[in-house]
Amino acid sequence: MASYALECNLPGNIANMENMVRAADPEAVFTSGSADYRIEITISGTKQGLTCRGRIDGRKAAQVTFNDREIGDPRYGTDAFTQRQKEMVRKGVLVLLEKAGAPKLPWGILTGVRPSKLYHYLRDLGFSPAEVEERLGDQFMLVPEKAALLKAVGEVQRPFFQKVAGRISIYVGIPFCPTKCHYCSFASHPLTTHAHLVEGFLAALAYEIAEIGKALARLGFSPATLYIGGGTPTVLTTSQLRNLLDWIGRSFSLGELLEYTVEAGRPDTIDREKLKLLRDYGVTRVSVNPQTFNPRTLTRIGRKHTIEQLETAVALVRALDFPCLNMDMIIGLPGEREEDWDYTLEKLLAYQSENITLHTLAPKRAATWDFSQVKGEVAEERVANWLDTGRTRLGAAGYYPYYLYRQRRSVAGQENCGYTLPGWEGIYNILMMEERSTVLGLGGGGMSKWFEPVSFKVTRTPNPKCPATYRGRIKELVAEKVNMLLASVN
Ligand code: SF4
Repeated sequence: MASYALECNLPGNIANMENMVRAADPEAVFTSGSADYRIEITISGTKQGLTCRGRIDGRKAAQVTFNDREIGDPRYGTDAFTQRQKEMVRKGVLVLLEKAGAPKLPWGILTGVRPSKLYHYLRDLGFSPAEVEERLGDQFMLVPEKAALLKAVGEVQRPFFQKVAGRISIYVGIPFCPTKCHYCSFASHPLTTHAHLVEGFLAALAYEIAEIGKALARLGFSPATLYIGGGTPTVLTTSQLRNLLDWIGRSFSLGELLEYTVEAGRPDTIDREKLKLLRDYGVTRVSVNPQTFNPRTLTRIGRKHTIEQLETAVALVRALDFPCLNMDMIIGLPGEREEDWDYTLEKLLAYQSENITLHTLAPKRAATWDFSQVKGEVAEERVANWLDTGRTRLGAAGYYPYYLYRQRRSVAGQENCGYTLPGWEGIYNILMMEERSTVLGLGGGGMSKWFEPVSFKVTRTPNPKCPATYRGRIKELVAEKVNMLLASVN
């Protein structure tokens, strides 16, 4: 663990510097006194060009000076200057850390969850795809593979922004699962301990769906996409699931839906009756998530389902003719080695699911696992290579990347990326990540994102993750959403 003392001549940039240091050294501690490393950054210049001067002293010493005329490009607005200064600060820090021996970060100075937002920002300013890719490498220090990946994803996504312009999407969160996977940090409560909360939660959800449905009807909105997630919605009994689908069908105008997804992530929650119900109610996309095809790992991560249950679930999905199947995988699970990932990829590709999402393990504090106990079993140095192998083999099988995001503390600083066969992009996933249209989040942990199309500003209003709190606050939550909806059209 190394300590760092940071200085910058631009006010308000210490947190920005800390953020960058933490990306390179997750164990970093910060101090204003004596430290293993002292980093000083000075930014000077005008709106025609900036200069960064920096030095690092301590266990290793180095200096850097670089000029940047990018901000002088007339395509940038006047409001871009402060942001450009912050980017220069981060770049100065990262260059110094690399000179002092830090490994190269695949995503360079991009430390946020949504790197593709930067891609779209630059494209909206009028830069061509090639110009953006060049800037991602030169100014943002992405390695060439990540810059190319971001360009590929961004170009797939852009037509969808037009397709849903002015429309809203709906997310419904069911915050229950049969048991809790060890790595999980989602809004999910195991039925083994929280089953008594389900009925009360559903009563509140019925109210929220009905009231929001009335408001949307009054305003003439019909959703573009609908996504029931969680948790695992298919953990509900058949009759609870029927009620839920019925409330949704009666409350929202679904005639112009582009996509209707239900997360059926845990194969141990699926049977023919439930899947038939989903199909009968118009669901077009289901997600069944193996995470790994190694049965030992499944036990290790607390998934509590078998490979046989997965195979049965996928066969049922195919027999019922769902148009689109997604399968989620996690790379970097403890104990997994080269041969596990090879075997998993081979099995995965055999299903020919329309969508495949490759996640990198991200140790979260909210997980039940103490990651310090399993860290030594994660093949961190192989993860980037496994992602590359996955990308190559998926590409050879006809898949291309269509959405991506990053998580804090993701193993080896990598990303999560969704792949699709041609024409099966999960539209909700694109919209949720890129925040280019309003998404109403209902149910447990549902996050509403209110998009303002002129300023591109997004306001977030979360529903509580706790089912009991959600139930207790339901009237207030619904009133707030209805008010926001009315304000969004005035
Ligand atoms: S199935 Fe998904 S939401 Fe449920 S506990 Fe496991 S990771 Fe969390």
